[in-house]
Amino acid sequence: MKIDFSKYADGLVPAIVQDYSTNKVLMLGFMNEEALKETERQGKVTFYSRSKQRLWTKGEESGNFLELKSIAVDCDNDTLLIKAHPLGPVCHTGADTCWSERNHSNDFLLYLEDIIRLRKQASPDESYVARLFAKGINKVAQKVGEEAVELVIEAKDENDELFLEEAADLLFHYLLLLNAKGHNLQRVIEVLQKRHSK
Ligand code: AMP
Ligand code: ZN
Ligand code: ZN
Ligand code: ZN
Repeated sequence: MKIDFSKYADGLVPAIVQDYSTNKVLMLGFMNEEALKETERQGKVTFYSRSKQRLWTKGEESGNFLELKSIAVDCDNDTLLIKAHPLGPVCHTGADTCWSERNHSNDFLLYLEDIIRLRKQASPDESYVARLFAKGINKVAQKVGEEAVELVIEAKDENDELFLEEAADLLFHYLLLLNAKGHNLQRVIEVLQKRHSK
């Protein structure tokens, strides 16, 4: 693969990212030689970010990495086509691609994961999520255990409303724990899908 970085004054080659399984165009980024090497080394799509002025592995904060599938150079060696598997919404707006609207209702749990990421950075005085995270991962895990027990207790009862409330508590804290461990729902879904296909 002979990509001609010298064609651009800043050495940054446009890299179009396409979804490996759906063929959707996901986003456009720029790569220098280092970013391309890093992409191949990690197996995660890595750009050079002009705004950050450093290498930027897509997903480094959100967890929505782009798993590298293939790299192709165009006819005159100055544009890259990267096929990748997205681990979550690709756009920073929460949309699947940089050319689509985000869809809150279809993917409410994914949207909620975004909110959790944002609330984590908030001040502990104003955010329950920030407060819980500040207490550490063991405390988050413990909360999941508590909510699970509460759900089990409600399961023995006839009160549907309370049962659903506890089910929601458990799901919410489960998402918090995934985040605290540096994972997200998409990864769990992939584990389930892999089992299903066996
Ligand atoms: P991420 O790499 O997904 O952890 O996102 C980190 C930051 O990179 C975000 O806060 C945005 O500023 C930026 N960003 C994320 N995704 C995109 C994208 N598809 N296009 C442009 N900027 C993005
Ligand atoms: Zn070209
Ligand atoms: Zn975008
Ligand atoms: Zn509860």
